[in-house]
Amino acid sequence: MELRKDPITQSWVILGQREVVAETAEQCPLEPEKIEKVPAIMIWPAAGPWQVRVVPHPDPLYHVESDPGRLAEGMYDKMGALGAHEVVVETPQHDRRLSLFSDEEIERVLWVWASRIADLKKDVRFKYISVFKNQGALAGEEWPHAHSQLTATIFVPRRIKYELNSAHEWFKDKERCIFCDMVRQEEKQGKRIVDVQGDYYALCPYASRVPYEIWLLHRRHNHTFEQPRPGSNRRQLAALLGRILRRLEKVAPAYHLVVHTSPSTMNKKGEMAGYWKTLADDYHWHIEILPILEKRSKSYSIKEVYFNPELPEQAASNLRALDPNS
Ligand SMILES: [Zn+2]
Ligand SMILES: [Zn+2]
Ligand SMILES: [Zn+2]
Repeated sequence: MELRKDPITQSWVILGQREVVAETAEQCPLEPEKIEKVPAIMIWPAAGPWQVRVVPHPDPLYHVESDPGRLAEGMYDKMGALGAHEVVVETPQHDRRLSLFSDEEIERVLWVWASRIADLKKDVRFKYISVFKNQGALAGEEWPHAHSQLTATIFVPRRIKYELNSAHEWFKDKERCIFCDMVRQEEKQGKRIVDVQGDYYALCPYASRVPYEIWLLHRRHNHTFEQPRPGSNRRQLAALLGRILRRLEKVAPAYHLVVHTSPSTMNKKGEMAGYWKTLADDYHWHIEILPILEKRSKSYSIKEVYFNPELPEQAASNLRALDPNS
């Protein structure tokens, strides 16, 4: 695997071949009898029968032992795919989707995501830890068995960089968090909010890129997903996420889910780099869910400008009308 940087858009692109993986339980590499033979990075609960198990990805995009050596090829930049790539097996059962878990079971998955982010952030070589979940063949899921993935990279992904820059600019200008401001306005207007649980909100963003795009945010400020605000209750987030996924599955066969949290702020000397000075005040963690609608798949083909035929106000109203418990 090799990482190359597009000098114009600043995107890093991973180049290399990947294996295509099989479908049935017999072929599934995440079945308990197979996965229990792989050295686990984390098992939860630690005692008794496990629900969540974290293992190294069998065909990783990034390798911990790679040479991070950044090389120039004329005007171009490339580097070895140094990083970590882990699989979070969310249940031992082959055909149980996350949306059908109990609130407590979803909370365990969220807790495992958080503790893996916190652990990987201790490695000062890594600049960003991504948590994502691709569910459904249309979303490019690797195995049908419920799982999510974590990658630790020595660069900050482009979209996060955009968010960090915008949030930083907004804060410099107004001394307020852009996400907090957004939640306040959405609360006031109400029309794009799909569901609420405690202080957690699920809403269709104003400029939704795809039909039924949903963000989950805490209404009180906090920049790190892995370190919740004192007094916040992750069980509420789990309950909200479950209801949102059950609603979404009625309108979309597949989705991408990604956790957006603050990047690592430590440099190699273990000091905080100066440009992160206001990060704790200006960034705000959230979860983004991008559903994939088969019949609308054309809307994704024009990547330069997103074309979304569904207004978020209408999408939120449609989703509110769906019963997450039936
Ligand atoms: Zn399986
Ligand atoms: Zn905020
Ligand atoms: Zn985001």
